[in-house]
Amino acid sequence: MAPPAPAPPANSPHTATVAGVPVDTRHWIGGRRVPSASGATFTDHSPLDGTPLAEIARGGADDARAAVAAAREAFPAWAATAPAERARLLHAVADGVQARIEDLAVVETADNGALLRSHRRGVMPRVVHNLRYFADRLLALSHDDFVTRGHTHHVSWDPAGPAVLITPWNAPLMLASWKIAPALAAGNTVVLKPAEWTPLTASLFAGIAHEAGLPAGVLNVLQGYGPEAGAPLVADPGVRRISFTGSVPTARRIAAAAAGHLVPCSFELGGKSPLLVFADADPELAADLAVEQYDNAGQVCLAATRILVEESARDAFLGHFLDRVRKLTPGDPRDEATDVGPAIHPRHVERVDGFVRRALDAGAKAVTGGGRNHALGGNHYLPTLLTDVAQDSEIVQEEVFGPVLTLQTFPDGDEDEAVRLADDTRFGLAATLVTGDRERARRVAARLVAGTVWVNCFFVRDLSAPFGGSRESGIGREGGDWSFDFYCDLKNTVTAPEGWARHG
Ligand code: ADP
Repeated sequence: MAPPAPAPPANSPHTATVAGVPVDTRHWIGGRRVPSASGATFTDHSPLDGTPLAEIARGGADDARAAVAAAREAFPAWAATAPAERARLLHAVADGVQARIEDLAVVETADNGALLRSHRRGVMPRVVHNLRYFADRLLALSHDDFVTRGHTHHVSWDPAGPAVLITPWNAPLMLASWKIAPALAAGNTVVLKPAEWTPLTASLFAGIAHEAGLPAGVLNVLQGYGPEAGAPLVADPGVRRISFTGSVPTARRIAAAAAGHLVPCSFELGGKSPLLVFADADPELAADLAVEQYDNAGQVCLAATRILVEESARDAFLGHFLDRVRKLTPGDPRDEATDVGPAIHPRHVERVDGFVRRALDAGAKAVTGGGRNHALGGNHYLPTLLTDVAQDSEIVQEEVFGPVLTLQTFPDGDEDEAVRLADDTRFGLAATLVTGDRERARRVAARLVAGTVWVNCFFVRDLSAPFGGSRESGIGREGGDWSFDFYCDLKNTVTAPEGWARHG
């Protein structure tokens, strides 16, 4: 075990106490807490009530260069560390996270506003699982050697080099760990750039990893705004992989920067996924799955926000759905009883509301919701369902990333039209279908453009499965060995048979 990182003095401008938990708000580079070279900071606010939580190091080009240099320096030794030792260290980090689930959960909720109960019981345990899964998977990685004309071909997974991981604010530590775990397991070193709206748990995680014994420079955390801290990171010639989860326009910028050094990118981007409800579906199940789309105030890239119902099932579906919406409890995400918390940021609420207002102006009807939750104020938005929306309208085509669903119908018995509507966006992240007919499920699933199709379920995720999006929802797949494919350069070593003479 490495000694704990020295705590800064209590009155330091570099620490904040958030929900009772001290957080060091500097970068974590080369095994040390460092302020920005410029000395600049930015203020992180809570989505719960808008209060300032912390002053965070505001990274720039110099800090990005230092972070990549630290990752490069640490790379040869980490790459050469035996897989069993890398796996042991990742399990030690997982133990550290496990021991601090409560701290991480309360800080994450203060920072991003998602439900504390789900951070405690779902998200943070999942972080632990991400680390353990890829540690174990590393030890099981193998390709069978094969022999052609007497020559043995041995395929090995060589770590590619320093990886830059850029994450969004909707599931900060969960998404960071989903990238960190396979990248480190594979023998790469990492620079993580968390989203500027949710910088805190990454900082805690760096300390946990250090205390677990992760060598200096293997994991680095650079804080700051995307254009200032993220942009120089992805353009740095020392970087060998970029994994990004976020918006399509940012992905385009990153891809352009990565092209400069031909750095492979893995992108998990937006979605506008359909929820197809056939008349033979269990209407209660369909309504349950539809209401689930309001989880995390709808700030979930996988959310099935376009409900497509077979005409004759519409009224029954809507009845069950509205029953359930009435039972939802909006409120403070720290309260166990709350089902829908606030959105991340006032600017984001404004964006969500803009989509809804423009849809209403264009003739949409709000069957439920349709605006801010004035009773709660702040960043709270009402769970909303809009009908009378055109397939080519903005509200049907663009990702809102809020608690806003649309309802459309397709003619009875017209599976072709259901698939046409489902597939008719520029995205292809996921699709959910609800039907009592297994044969129909197989037929329709085969025709949907989506990285994941859920049949009579939603959000069931297994780390062994490939995960990613088609079309503008992303590039590449991560999960299971697909993650190792991405973070490694596969090498084929061909060995001649004993005593083989080339010209013999
Ligand atoms: P959102 O609109 O959801 O904030 P973004 O795609 O802008 O989504 O942000 C996701 C992550 O990408 C954040 O960590 C952000 O700081 C980072 N980011 C934004 N712009 C850039 C950029 N030009 N280069 C690298 N990272 C960026």
